[in-house]
Amino acid sequence: MLTEQRNILLNIAADKFSKKGFQVEIFDTSADAINWLKNEIRTTDVIGFGGSKTLEQIGFFEVFNKSKYPNFLDRNAANLTYDEKVDIWRKALTADVFLCSANGVSISGELILIDKNGNRNAAATFGPKKRIFVIGWNKLRNNFDNAMEYAKNVAAVQNNLRFQTNNPCTKAGKCLNCNTSESLCFVTTTISNVVPAFPASLLIIKEDLGF
Ligand code: SF4
Repeated sequence: MLTEQRNILLNIAADKFSKKGFQVEIFDTSADAINWLKNEIRTTDVIGFGGSKTLEQIGFFEVFNKSKYPNFLDRNAANLTYDEKVDIWRKALTADVFLCSANGVSISGELILIDKNGNRNAAATFGPKKRIFVIGWNKLRNNFDNAMEYAKNVAAVQNNLRFQTNNPCTKAGKCLNCNTSESLCFVTTTISNVVPAFPASLLIIKEDLGF
């Protein structure tokens, strides 16, 4: 997609999401977004996050980690047992700040999240004092149906390939709406509005990030 077209979609998305109560911030680079996050997040904050290729790619974990932010809820720490991970997922539900990306984004102002356990979707919808969504502009789609199509047939499939599951999408290259116990897609959530009491920021970075 041409840069000019992406800028048009980005401006429409920024307007729509703002009108729906999101604090929208636009960045030319990941480094700019990281600088914004450094100002926004206090060193004493309890910080939770959802699994996200986008957060990895912007260098989030190099800046935000337990050594600099003692209350960082590190679900990726080495040697965690499953029960310890679940405990961290639960704590993230009441974090000061929760960060994640989205699997699909419509310029009409909807974020789509597809999850296995639903812990990311839960924290992304209610609980943390502040939610911050980080997306690359490659995820913007021109309407809700196309955003859902992208979330299911690109993002979810890529996620299965990344984790090397045996689900049918890894052979077909598209979602076959499986219902296997290994499916990564048990919970699908659409966030379409934000009320002032439970604020959310949407950071759109003019880079290709995540999938
Ligand atoms: S085939 Fe199953 S695991 Fe793969 S994307 Fe579709 S619902 Fe998810």
